[in-house]
Amino acid sequence: MIKNFDSLKELKIRIYLWVLPCIIIALISNTLLQNIDGVNKFDLTINNTLAIWFTISWFFLYKRVFVRFSEYSNLALVSFYHITTFFDAVRNYMVVSGGSLGDFIIWMPIITLFFFLTLGTKRGLYYSIIIFLTTFVSGILYLNSLSSESIDSLGQYYFANLVYIIVLYYAQHVFRTFADLEMFKKHAYYDSLTGIANRLLIDEWLEKKLKVFKDKKVGFSIIFFDIDHFKSVNDNYGHKIGDEVLVELAELIQIQLTNRELFGRWGGEEFIIISNTVGEVTVNLAEKLRKAVAEYSFKGAGNLTASFGVTNSKTGDSIDSLLNRADKGLYQCKNSGRNQVSYIK
Ligand code: GH3
Ligand code: MG
Ligand code: MG
Repeated sequence: MIKNFDSLKELKIRIYLWVLPCIIIALISNTLLQNIDGVNKFDLTINNTLAIWFTISWFFLYKRVFVRFSEYSNLALVSFYHITTFFDAVRNYMVVSGGSLGDFIIWMPIITLFFFLTLGTKRGLYYSIIIFLTTFVSGILYLNSLSSESIDSLGQYYFANLVYIIVLYYAQHVFRTFADLEMFKKHAYYDSLTGIANRLLIDEWLEKKLKVFKDKKVGFSIIFFDIDHFKSVNDNYGHKIGDEVLVELAELIQIQLTNRELFGRWGGEEFIIISNTVGEVTVNLAEKLRKAVAEYSFKGAGNLTASFGVTNSKTGDSIDSLLNRADKGLYQCKNSGRNQVSYIK
């Protein structure tokens, strides 16, 4: 969970880091072009203030310092810019020349996104509505002095603004649902103790492997292994140390594997590896793992061993028949002294 929140914050900072330079360039180019056409002092002051503050806050965000302060100060400035520019456009441009609202409304979706990004779903919604109502009331006040073209432009602006608010509000819900689904999936498919695949995911892997084997004759093998006398680890050192042994073992095995093997916890102290190799190659891998376990000293429990059953996929196999053969191999090891590998053809 904490990792999810961290990555959300990081994601937000990345959006700001990409978007702010674009806005700064837009503001600077707007200022330069206004200088050519004749200076509007109000626009110049607000453009320069925004460009300077956005540049400073970009550096803060880049350095990951004063992040919250940068976000809120940008929010205050952007809101002020939005309302004053809107008011200026209605009073000094639409009323006087009877035209439409002007270029600045191009930024309205980004400004609304900015509200949601900074304040989150609920507060973003309330804040967007307040800003919307502020512009709505100031537009209505001048309604009688506006031409029909200006009224049309205002109407389009208000409806588009409402659409952005609704879409962004629900988009946040959609993203959150996707994030929740990812989290549920992770919990459904991975073992909470060791972090490796659980039985459900292993079952899906085996089903897929068996299908590919049936359709394309691509063979595979499995290694089924179980810690020897694990019950005595719990009895002698306690359940907590037993849990730690399982975590250490999962890490130890993972280090030994290449990326091509699939590895998971079948249940209890039983694990499974699915390999694309078959026969002796898999037996050698199991032997390598057996040695690695036997030579390793577990933090709370010292030296332990494990037994390994190996088998290949066979024509007509189901998950059960495949696992039964591997289990048979495991049983043979247990009956002949443990700490060994048994290969069942
Ligand atoms: P063998 O060499 O025949 O495999 O003996 P064993 O003692 O390892 O086998 P057995 O199946 O009798 O015992 C397995 C034990 O594993 C029993 C159970 O208490 C323990 N166990 C299963 N899951 C967990 C777990 O998540 N944490 C801990 N600490 N122990 C577990
Ligand atoms: Mg055991
Ligand atoms: Mg067991």
